[in-house]
Amino acid sequence: MADEGRHKKLLGYLNWPDEWVSPRENGLHFPKSGAYETNKVLDDLNEDQPYIHATIHDIKYINSEWHLFDINANLIIKAENIIYCGGMAGCNLPFINDIPLVPNRGQIDLLPVEHCEGFAATTVTYGGYITPASQVGSHTYRACGASFTRQIKDNWQEPSHFDTNKNIARLETHFHLDEMTIPRDKTITWTGLRATTIDHLPIVGPMLDRQQWLHAFSPFGKDTRLKPLAAGEYLRGLYIMTGFGSKGMQNAPICAEYLASLIASHPLPVGKGEVKALHPGRFLIKDISRNKVS
Ligand SMILES: Cc1cc2nc3c(=O)[nH]c(=O)nc-3n(C[C@H](O)[C@H](O)[C@H](O)COP(=O)(O)OP(=O)(O)OC[C@H]3O[C@@H](n4cnc5c(N)ncnc54)[C@H](O)[C@@H]3O)c2cc1C
Repeated sequence: MADEGRHKKLLGYLNWPDEWVSPRENGLHFPKSGAYETNKVLDDLNEDQPYIHATIHDIKYINSEWHLFDINANLIIKAENIIYCGGMAGCNLPFINDIPLVPNRGQIDLLPVEHCEGFAATTVTYGGYITPASQVGSHTYRACGASFTRQIKDNWQEPSHFDTNKNIARLETHFHLDEMTIPRDKTITWTGLRATTIDHLPIVGPMLDRQQWLHAFSPFGKDTRLKPLAAGEYLRGLYIMTGFGSKGMQNAPICAEYLASLIASHPLPVGKGEVKALHPGRFLIKDISRNKVS
């Protein structure tokens, strides 16, 4: 019932013709919808971009440029501007380790297409989701997802049979299939860690000078109506774009455009409200105001 209300509201808001969206029993039908094949998207994006395969261990600002080093202190690249977009995996890097990201493990199960008879060939969402068929290696699969787990164990990358069962059971329930119709042992699993934030918004913008901010905004620890001692300063040429949670595909393109425009001093494609909502300093200001840092 709650969903019905939401769907009605959304239909009214979109006001799209039926060939784009129409109500269905317990849901909405988007006849033209599809699903990204992320490997192909990445291949296309990387086609004419220089791509260096290396793990960055340290970041240093030397002679007005950021220098990125691997674990053996080899210089991998240097640049006037860099954007951190390493998700959860780069959280131990200098400057990044103070950013409050919360990991959330997710697992999807790829079902061989021959086990997907009996339900629509399009993308269907129902709390979980099933995508249309796509080729993975020599076989055709449909992706069934996804799980959400906040308790992260050291072995988080290993497939979880519990999650596989949950993903598939939810699918069977939605399509009124008998329990265990779809074999659990024929799936290929994929797991990842979502980088999430406590306010569910990404973190996008210039990287702040944390020590300077702690001093400049210290009056907020007494009263947030007091004036800061100085304006907040930023680390020249260092930017961050992370915390996309489960919506990287939707939100990363506009955020990337925002940062590119900011760096190039072009008009921004987002308004002041969005800049503030995404700002990397918002958590630190809250922590200072609540006396959680000194
Ligand atoms: C199971 C699951 C299902 C999902 N489904 C959807 C979905 O349907 N739609 C959607 O929009 N989003 C989905 N997401 C979320 C989506 O995957 C993320 O929002 C997105 O990947 C975030 O992109 P990112 O580039 O910020 O981080 P990531 O994709 O995590 O990429 C970070 C990259 O940085 C690299 N890196 C990190 N540290 C270093 C270092 N020190 N040196 C060099 N490289 C480094 C990593 O190796 C990685 O390649 C899903 C996530 C999961 C786990």
